[in-house]
Amino acid sequence: VRETPKSKASPQPERPTVKLTHPDRIYWPEEGVTKQGLADYYTEVWKYIAPFVVARPLALLRGPEGITGQTFFQKHAWKGLNTNIALVTDPKDKDDEPLISINDLDGLIGLVQSAVLEIHPWGSTITDWERPDMIIMDLDPGENVPWEQVIAGALETRERLEQAGLAAFIKTSGGKGLHVVAPVKPKATWPEVKAFTKALADSMASDSPDSYVSTITKSKRTGKILIDYLRNQRGMTAVAPYSTRARPGAAVSMPLEWDELTPGIGPAYFTVLNTATRLAAIKRDPWADFRAAAAPIEKPKTKKRG
Ligand code: ATP
Ligand code: MN
Ligand code: MN
Repeated sequence: VRETPKSKASPQPERPTVKLTHPDRIYWPEEGVTKQGLADYYTEVWKYIAPFVVARPLALLRGPEGITGQTFFQKHAWKGLNTNIALVTDPKDKDDEPLISINDLDGLIGLVQSAVLEIHPWGSTITDWERPDMIIMDLDPGENVPWEQVIAGALETRERLEQAGLAAFIKTSGGKGLHVVAPVKPKATWPEVKAFTKALADSMASDSPDSYVSTITKSKRTGKILIDYLRNQRGMTAVAPYSTRARPGAAVSMPLEWDELTPGIGPAYFTVLNTATRLAAIKRDPWADFRAAAAPIEKPKTKKRG
């Protein structure tokens, strides 16, 4: 039996089926962004954010009263979790409480229903917990660092990643800095990946000690950028591309083209309010090639015998 032919009309964007309670609750008071507004935002960006939030353990910043109320950072499942959210068990920590994961748009809107204001995924997926498929260099400017210097730091990070055979992508953090993210083939393990990112950060700090530091304990950070590589450890997380931030301004972490990285676009330039306009205006997703660009991290070369 043949199905009746589908209509030739262009397919409608996917719609969530999750029912929100208190849709009018204000989450970002100054911008007037409500819980419904947050759900509409995530529905709009779903196809872009999906590869970065589906099938990964997620840490979540929740705030039932919005950004001005109490917020809490949760790495584990809680009671009364929305039924669209999946529980996953860390294979290395089977006795611990389950972790949180989502599979689809309803899962993402289930997070909104659970008052999630920031989404922080692992750098590995639940199909290969021990081998990250991306690395993130978190550029944290200290006091008095001009934005041009942060841009220069991102470009230098990109160059060093490319020298190592990796592709580099850039996003605003939605906070104070930039994130340089490289897709990797899930081959190297967490300790190997951490060592690789530490070596990269250390070499930037030792080559340009006036511009960069690679350890948080360095007291004199004024005028310097911390090349924070410590996101790249098992169980650590970083804010997802397109995630909202629980900070004034309703900023989001926005993927950019490298040539968009100009002084006019600051770290919190893109927000829940202007993202739809941006996505309608750009011709292609700046991170469209992210997964296809993944390369393996090469192990440090052992000394050649002479
Ligand atoms: P910025 O550009 O302002 O540095 P960011 O996203 O890089 O923004 P933070 O929001 O300060 O930096 O977060 C740093 C990391 O620490 C996040 O990636 C997150 O995984 C983790 N984190 C954030 N909030 C908490 C928290 N309340 N408790 C524990 N870890 C947190
Ligand atoms: Mn940061
Ligand atoms: Mn940091």
